[in-house]
Amino acid sequence: MNYKDLADLIFPNIKDISYYEEKYPRRNLPEGAIVTRVAPSPTGFVHIGSLYQGLIARKIASQTKGVFFLRIEDTDQKREIENGTTEIINGFKQFDVIPDEGMTSETEEVGKYGPYKQSLRKDIYQSYAKYLIEQGKAYPCFCTPEELEEMRTKQEEAKIRPGYYGVWAKCRKLSVEEMIEKIKAGEKYIIRFKSPGREDRKIKHHDVIKGNVDFPENDQDIVIIKADGLPTYHFAHAVDDHLMGTTHVIRGDEWLSSVPLHLQLFQELGFKAPKYAHISPIMKNDNGNKRKLSKRKDPEAAVSYYAEEGIPANAVKEYLLNIANSNFENWRRANKDASIDSFELQLNKMSVSGALFDMIKLLDVSKNVIAKYTAEQVYEEAYKWAEKYDMELADMLKDKEYSLKVLGIERGNVKPRRDIAKWSDVKENIVYMYPEKFDKNTEEYELQTISNVEEAKQILSTYIQYYKEEDDKDTWFNKIKDVAEKYGYAREVKEYKQNPDAYKGHVGDVSTLIRIALTKRTNTPDMYEIMKVLGKEEVEKRISKLCNLCEKED
Ligand code: GLU
Repeated sequence: MNYKDLADLIFPNIKDISYYEEKYPRRNLPEGAIVTRVAPSPTGFVHIGSLYQGLIARKIASQTKGVFFLRIEDTDQKREIENGTTEIINGFKQFDVIPDEGMTSETEEVGKYGPYKQSLRKDIYQSYAKYLIEQGKAYPCFCTPEELEEMRTKQEEAKIRPGYYGVWAKCRKLSVEEMIEKIKAGEKYIIRFKSPGREDRKIKHHDVIKGNVDFPENDQDIVIIKADGLPTYHFAHAVDDHLMGTTHVIRGDEWLSSVPLHLQLFQELGFKAPKYAHISPIMKNDNGNKRKLSKRKDPEAAVSYYAEEGIPANAVKEYLLNIANSNFENWRRANKDASIDSFELQLNKMSVSGALFDMIKLLDVSKNVIAKYTAEQVYEEAYKWAEKYDMELADMLKDKEYSLKVLGIERGNVKPRRDIAKWSDVKENIVYMYPEKFDKNTEEYELQTISNVEEAKQILSTYIQYYKEEDDKDTWFNKIKDVAEKYGYAREVKEYKQNPDAYKGHVGDVSTLIRIALTKRTNTPDMYEIMKVLGKEEVEKRISKLCNLCEKED
């Protein structure tokens, strides 16, 4: 009896690995092309960290004319949920992170290196497990969960390293005959890797992001095929990334400590190892404590959050690139209108410790992104968002022609308006421009600068006589100055500052009063443009309304 007999007994009727080696030939790509992937589990939740990895992987592959694929890692069937794959695909698609190969729906895929869903690759893993058994590099383990538990307790009590290794690796010492006998007797088993490593020896590893790292060799006989016949992550990683031709494994740094094991698996399987780039997680500052963005505590950890809030996908991507490479900010300053696709991302410039996620900064980036949109773009996106999340806004936007004028205020010029960070801001920012909404607004006017109601009334009624819709901006502003002067306010702020005792105030006080009459706000975009959009009739109506109120108070 030899290893071959054992392997045949465990995996009869299974293809030889040469079948798969031929079926998936080496990729024919230009020099320097990077093949990489994102490999999430379909748990029904797409974490922002997963999008971050996907975005980086997509960019690196595009920059080098390589390939980016999506592999669904569903070997832990307890964690899986229905439609988990669709959610991942849609989550990425929303941010225009589109793989060249991989799953395209729950059941369909594109690419020649599939299946791209691990549960459909069971036979492949088993062929490679058989190959290892044949060479005495893997073996069946008959230890029951209770025995393993007992072993762990003993290790804990003795304060020694936990795991299945050395003297603790009981089944490793069984003879082939004993193994075969147990299998024939119907004993349950899983398959373990027979690690050739020694804990007292070190390996050196160069990580593309983390740099040089030293580790003890792996000496754990880890499980490669579980009781359900499916592989563990470690084994599937080696087999898949080999067959799929991955040149760079870009993944979360929680896997960094598994590198010694992974390199050993590649070595024992006779595969060329890929390069590794371990990304630090996105962190959050929680009252001075740095911690990972948590699925449970932080709504912004889910990619769905951004669509719900109406933060444009472009802005999120732009922000993630900011976190990824610190030189992005300078690049953006020098290339104000360039698409982020032309930014050259560098893996070796990524931060070694976790980058901080800062919502305020993200919203600031988003304001800049939206500031560059045309009124039409703002309209389309805000409307799409509103139809899903805010019917009141959708209703306001139904009058497209008027809404385009509203959204076009201070847009498309050198210093465009920067007051929208997300589509959920739009309603609050423009609501006063809609007469039926303004009429229903029951907030009190706060006169601010000119609190004498009699004077306020006089200023407003004088102004309304001066106002002409067709005035150009200079004429319009001169008229406000004329009114200011007439009531003892300086025409220019400068004049007032030079001689404050000579005036009641300055032109700014008068325009604030007009602004309040028109909008009930002290802070709005350009008032000249606002008045143009509202139209003469509405302007007069709003100013008279405040005049009348002042009169009543008189
Ligand atoms: N399924 C693994 C994870 O979600 C993938 C890690 C990898 O990219 O290899 O962490």
